[in-house]
Amino acid sequence: MIEPQHPVTDARTAETLATRLAAVCQRMAAAAERVGRPAGAVRTIAVTKTVPPEVIAQACALGLRDFGENRVQEAQRKISELKLSDIRWELIGHLQTNKAARAVELFVRVQSVDSVRLAETLNAKAAALGRMLPVLLEVNVAGEASKSGFAVEDVVDAAGRVTRLEHLRPEGLMTVAPLVEDPEAVRPVFRRLRELRDQLREVTPGGTSGGWDELSMGMSDDFELAIEEGATLVRLGRALFGERPAPV
Ligand SMILES: *Cc1c(COP(=O)(O)O)cnc(C)c1O
Repeated sequence: MIEPQHPVTDARTAETLATRLAAVCQRMAAAAERVGRPAGAVRTIAVTKTVPPEVIAQACALGLRDFGENRVQEAQRKISELKLSDIRWELIGHLQTNKAARAVELFVRVQSVDSVRLAETLNAKAAALGRMLPVLLEVNVAGEASKSGFAVEDVVDAAGRVTRLEHLRPEGLMTVAPLVEDPEAVRPVFRRLRELRDQLREVTPGGTSGGWDELSMGMSDDFELAIEEGATLVRLGRALFGERPAPV
C-alpha cells in the first residue's frame, strides 16, 4: 500500500491525471474513427520514466494496466515497490546485453530489440527461465544517427533470424519518430513502418511464433497521426503525466 505523502496534492494529481486520460482516450477514438478503425484496435502504453510510484498507482486506479519503462534499473525499483500484480510492464528503451537476464524477469515484452545479438541473448535468458518472451523489433525508420534500431533495409533479414529463436515470439515492429516541428512531417515514417510490417507478414509469416500484428508507434506529440497510419500500440508519457523534469 502506498501512503499519499500529501493528501491534498495527491487528490489534485489524481484529478489531473483522470482529466488527461479522458482527453487522450477521446482523441485516440476520434483518430481511429477518421480512418474507420475501431477504437479498441489501439492500446495505450503509459510511459512512466521519471514518474514516481504513487502516481503510477493512481494511473492503475484509473484503469491503465500497460506500462512502459526505458531503463531496467528504474523499472526494477518501481516494480518491487508497487507490487501491483496485474500490471503489464514493457521495456521500451535500449537494452544492454548485460541486463538482458533481468529484463526477461521483469518485463512481459521487450519492444526495443535493436540487434540480432540482443535477440540471441534474450533468447538464451528466456530459455534459462523456461519462458517465451514476446518482442518487437525496433526500426530506425528515419536513419537518425542518434537513435537505435534496425536500419530499414536490414529488417527482413533480422526478422527471419529472430523468428528462428525458439524462446522469442516476435509480435511486430516499434519505432520512435524524429522530433519535428510539424507532426504531419512524421506521417511517412509511420507509413513506412506499416509497409514493413505488411512485408514481413508476406515473407516471414512467423509460423508458431506470432503474426507481426503489432505496430508500436506514436508518442504524445504524434499519436493521432500514428493511429491514422495503423498503430496498434501508442506509447504516451507527457500526454498523461505532464512534462518530465529536465534531465540533469
Ligand atoms: C519517453 C518515451 C515515450 C513517451 O514519450 P512522450 O513524448 O512523453 O509521450 C515513448 N517511447 C519511448 C521509447 C520513450 O523513450
